[in-house]
Amino acid sequence: NVLYVMGMKSLRIEDNRGIAHASHLAQERKKAGGKGAGNLIVIFFISPTDWKMHDRGPRRIDFVLRNLREIKKQLDELNIPLMVYTSPSRKDMPKTLIDFAKQWDVKEIVGNVEYEVDECWRDVAILKAAGEAGLYATFLEDTYVVPAFHLETKTGHQYAVFSPWNRAWTAHIEKNMHLIDESPSPEANDKGIRTGKLGNLFDRQGEGFGIPEYVEGYECKDAEYMRKLWPAGSHSARKVLSNFVRGKGGESAFEDRASELGHKQVAPDSKDSRLNRYGIGRNLCSENGTSRLSPYLAAGVISPRACLRATMEVDKNKFKVGRSTGTETWNTEISFRDFYAHVLAAFPRVCMNHFFVQKYERVCWEYDDSLFQAWTEGRTGYPLVDAAMRQASQQGYMHNRGRMTVASFLSKHLMLDWRKGERWFNQNLIDQDFASNNAGWAWSSSCGVDPQPYFRIFNPTSQSEKCDPKGEYIKHYVPELRSLEGAAVHNPFERLSKGEFEKLGYPKPIVVHKEARERALRRFKEPGST
Ligand code: FAD
Repeated sequence: NVLYVMGMKSLRIEDNRGIAHASHLAQERKKAGGKGAGNLIVIFFISPTDWKMHDRGPRRIDFVLRNLREIKKQLDELNIPLMVYTSPSRKDMPKTLIDFAKQWDVKEIVGNVEYEVDECWRDVAILKAAGEAGLYATFLEDTYVVPAFHLETKTGHQYAVFSPWNRAWTAHIEKNMHLIDESPSPEANDKGIRTGKLGNLFDRQGEGFGIPEYVEGYECKDAEYMRKLWPAGSHSARKVLSNFVRGKGGESAFEDRASELGHKQVAPDSKDSRLNRYGIGRNLCSENGTSRLSPYLAAGVISPRACLRATMEVDKNKFKVGRSTGTETWNTEISFRDFYAHVLAAFPRVCMNHFFVQKYERVCWEYDDSLFQAWTEGRTGYPLVDAAMRQASQQGYMHNRGRMTVASFLSKHLMLDWRKGERWFNQNLIDQDFASNNAGWAWSSSCGVDPQPYFRIFNPTSQSEKCDPKGEYIKHYVPELRSLEGAAVHNPFERLSKGEFEKLGYPKPIVVHKEARERALRRFKEPGST
């Protein structure tokens, strides 16, 4: 038999390199071993202590469990058992896995590679334990389009600047188009599995091997709402993708979510798809202009290859990356996702709480919890920052322009250690992904790879005027400002009289932009200075 170890980033059975390979091996064994041989078994580990260490949040975990339930339905139809084990710690996993393999005549173990340091060590331990037990174990590259360490500079190093890396990434794919080929879905096991010894592996819900309703410590308070906003399953992910690539607005249940999400439709009368308009739509927080696929990509409910293939299907089968068209721009974002994962793999220190730009580890931060709390609650007095933070609290998701603005605000205006914000995002966002989140925060705070230069400090008011010109996004999330007309919505404290401002019940800015900017410039210019 062959065991596929499903990871937190590979929650699908379609177009999944690992399960496809495991299924292939099982078929080979079946051919060689005859009736009853060569079955595929899938196992998933619930690991609350690791989740705690890695700041996983209840929404992300609830999304994992929901997707597992969808996967179980699919696997049941294929007579493939899904075992869900709760492992007190990552360190126990190799032993549990090997014991399981021995008990159920498993000869080969397959998984997909994960680049985060702890996960790498875990998988090295699995390889070692499997070798010692006389089993084969293989980990395949699945999560990114181009595997890490495949692209290097002329001097043989990992790129640390996105643009040349992106050119190398594009050229590499163009030369190796098989990289975006679809992997086959797993073959079914024979029905007979259910009446044989392995039949015991089905339906063990009541014995602690099933998918729990929730995991202790990860109860999701707004589970119902999350389920509505972010339906689970690869069929949902494919629908979200197709509506983005082809949809023009208002034509399906997913498009309709836009109003609920506080986004207006992108040009509902336009003949253009959201993909074609992405170059414009992605910069407007108020519009439904991005795909909102991030929770699905982060959990591997859809593959990035499927994303690229979908854009090719509507674009004469051409693979394009750049900034000229909506398709090119969107594919460039898929490239960013790979870039940040490659950086993490090549510079594991970013996984260990260290800065990519080491000199900024000496920057002097503030430690005022009340400022941090005001930021988390969306009460900073800067409307775009507050709208974005309230969007995150409500939806477990934030528009990219919002993410850049709130991250810059926390690290430069409030001078709070950006890792506090990173942690809050990890714990609250449903699309939590270590590489993208860490790099996004490190970019915004000028401490990461290819960062925003320290002297470029986002002005939250002008960002607001650019990303939400009519204040629609702000008014949706910050009801205190709904009555305002014109430009006042971007900076009510400055633009209204004292009396008018006080009537709003909206907080005064917690820092003065000009002073905060000067302090940040001073501290970044000379790390260590106050
Ligand atoms: P689209 O604009 O439709 O892009 C398509 C896909 O490309 C996204 O789903 C995502 O997988 C990828 N992508 C887009 N932008 C980026 C980017 N800048 N970096 C890496 N990948 C990108 N993304 C996450 O998936 N998880 C996170 O935890 C996360 N944290 C972030 C924190 C900060 C401070 C910042 C600045 C960015 C963060 N991002 C994160 C990246 C980006 O904001 C989100 O991927 C994007 O907003 C998701 O919306 P979407 O799916 O509609 O994206």
